[in-house]
Amino acid sequence: MTSIQSLPTVQGCSVTSCAYNESSSCHAAAITVAGDNAKCGTFVEISFKGGVSSNGVVGACHRSECKFNDKLECTAGSVEIGAGRDVADCLTYEAR
Ligand code: SF4
Repeated sequence: MTSIQSLPTVQGCSVTSCAYNESSSCHAAAITVAGDNAKCGTFVEISFKGGVSSNGVVGACHRSECKFNDKLECTAGSVEIGAGRDVADCLTYEAR
């Protein structure tokens, strides 16, 4: 099982319109990947910037059919988020 210390970093996020994005880095404390297309469920467009100073991690992932998913947690070393079928999708997703 993934421990909280080893949660994968969001290595890069090209969705600069997101309130958690600063210079193409994610600064949400933790994101949740969900939805039909492994979309970033934490993505939000709002009139101010939010988040923490450090890079975000993947706190939870609902895509149990991804090869990196173990018990609804991500075991990839890191993930990339960017435009896919949705505005913000997990681009590291790979079907088993
Ligand atoms: S790589 Fe797979 S398990 Fe990890 S966050 Fe993306 S979709 Fe979820």
